Amino acid sequence: MSISLEQVSKHYGGSVAISDVSVEIADGELFVLLGPSGSGKSTLLRAIAGLTPIDRGRIVLHGRDVTHVSAREREVGFVFQNYALFRHMTVAENIEFALRARGVGAAARRARVNELLELVSLQGLGKRLPSELSGGQQQRVAVARALAHEPRVLLLDEPFGALDAKIRDELRRAIRDIQRTVGITTILVTHDQEEAFTMADRIGVMDRGRLQETDEPRVLYTRPRTRFAATFLGAANLLLGRIEGGGVRVGNTVFDTNPSERGGPPRHGEVTVLIRPEDIVLGRSELSAASAGELGYGTVRQIEFVGVLERVRLHVEPNEWLTSALAPGARFTIEATRNSRDAETTKLEVGQRVRIGAKHVHVLPTPISSLRLVGASEPDVERLASSSLVRELATRMHIAPVRHLSSSGIPPEALGGLAVVPFDRAGGFDGIARLLDEGARQVLGIADGHRRIERLVIYIQPTRAAREAALAAAGTLLRHLAVEGTLLVPAADRTVRGTSYRDLLDIRHAALRAHGVDVRTETFRGDVADAIGKRIHPSAPTLLLLGVSSPSSCYGLIEELGPRLAPRPPAATLIVRGNADADRDANTISYLRSASVLG
Ligand code: ADP
Ligand code: MG
Repeated sequence: MSISLEQVSKHYGGSVAISDVSVEIADGELFVLLGPSGSGKSTLLRAIAGLTPIDRGRIVLHGRDVTHVSAREREVGFVFQNYALFRHMTVAENIEFALRARGVGAAARRARVNELLELVSLQGLGKRLPSELSGGQQQRVAVARALAHEPRVLLLDEPFGALDAKIRDELRRAIRDIQRTVGITTILVTHDQEEAFTMADRIGVMDRGRLQETDEPRVLYTRPRTRFAATFLGAANLLLGRIEGGGVRVGNTVFDTNPSERGGPPRHGEVTVLIRPEDIVLGRSELSAASAGELGYGTVRQIEFVGVLERVRLHVEPNEWLTSALAPGARFTIEATRNSRDAETTKLEVGQRVRIGAKHVHVLPTPISSLRLVGASEPDVERLASSSLVRELATRMHIAPVRHLSSSGIPPEALGGLAVVPFDRAGGFDGIARLLDEGARQVLGIADGHRRIERLVIYIQPTRAAREAALAAAGTLLRHLAVEGTLLVPAADRTVRGTSYRDLLDIRHAALRAHGVDVRTETFRGDVADAIGKRIHPSAPTLLLLGVSSPSSCYGLIEELGPRLAPRPPAATLIVRGNADADRDANTISYLRSASVLG
């Protein structure tokens, strides 16, 4: 590995700039860090260069731990957005600056400058001043200057930001060529998804200081794992689907789920489905593509001509099977794009009612598809809706919570998503247990809705089913809430043969790989309830996540924990139960050893 980051974190005052970022970048790879402004991209790049000290974590370049090594000695070349050339020096002087500083002789400097000018296609311009060059040419000089001392890593922070579209395009290609020619491991920072797609071997998507998801551009676009990547990398229709007979029902069709769909826990019930606009098919009476499955009906609201494509927005007629993942049950819009041939053969007009279909759908492995607030009375439900945790989840996940009254029984739709119930001193775990009884797989009890959650404490029963479901939920929470996660793991315990420190590391790495977010692990000895109790601090509102394998094992844990936590309950408790079937053929030890189960 050329670049290896392990749980790198950086705060400025009380606010998080980067949070537990772990990633490995291979020799010669062009890795693009993509994310909105303020997501921590520059901070991470500067940390790798040694220009910003980090609070925690490890930075390893070519096998050497450089966490505490000065910028100068890291063998890194850096290009900033705003050129940062020395105005009063010629192009050649700019390029050889780093060589001079390193005491390289005049003849060798001259040879290197000529070589670099050729590399960046600026032969013969060595005597010019920066002001006599175009913006694109100045950025080429900046690249040549960054490469002069033959660094082993090249870091580019929005190098095209200040350029107009055409020059930007040309320079992108030039930099991609130079990077391939030199074969240097490179990280490029950008907020532009098209730039990321055209340049990257792999893209890491950043949001709020966390690396949300990392993969090859095509995979990230077609089969993202997270809502954030799905929506940040292009227009996305997010619908609710239901697992049905080996496929997923969306609207009037049960679509095949691709067997190669990556990772995630086994899915049940309700899921979030992504349909890209180009996979939507429209028709007046028949759908225009025979292979498409019908979703339902809608009305054309807007048609835009965008060059080779036509963009159509439709108001959908929602029904039991066709509902938005963003606001289940509410009216919603679908976006479709059509090529000019389809637009020509099936002409559409605003106001027209049409059939809406899809060529294929992608199931996001995100475990939280909807937020279902369940209370005995309207004020109960409203209290849940106004709690800080529900509001933060709803905002971050862009979903509108659905309100359900449980006075005349728990409505079955409430069991599909994340059920949220009050967790009061009197009822305690009872409300949660009742929903688990009814078949809910994840129930969130809210004790203190006033304060923002600051910490996530995770304890998972040591079975495969419990672990898969709970880690997936933990991953989602960590992505969407600005909290630190701690996974509690029993210290080497003879009753679980062979569980050792090595297994512990495997679990952490498997968690990272499977769910794209990192957590810290803490071991404990003795009683679980004690260990959890010790980590619930009233000063830092805590969300306790309990991963259980079945309702019955959950009741055992609740009985143990209930009295212990009653005097000082966590601000919120999430119980996630796995699919007990998954445990039948997997014993605990082989599970703990086998990273492939999670990876
Ligand atoms: P990006 O490059 O993705 O736009 P940055 O890494 O520049 O994001 O910033 C990440 C967060 O850290 C932002 O909230 C920003 O305000 C904050 N930040 C960055 N640099 C500093 C600094 N020197 N002092 C205080 N806060 C900073
Ligand atoms: Mg920046």
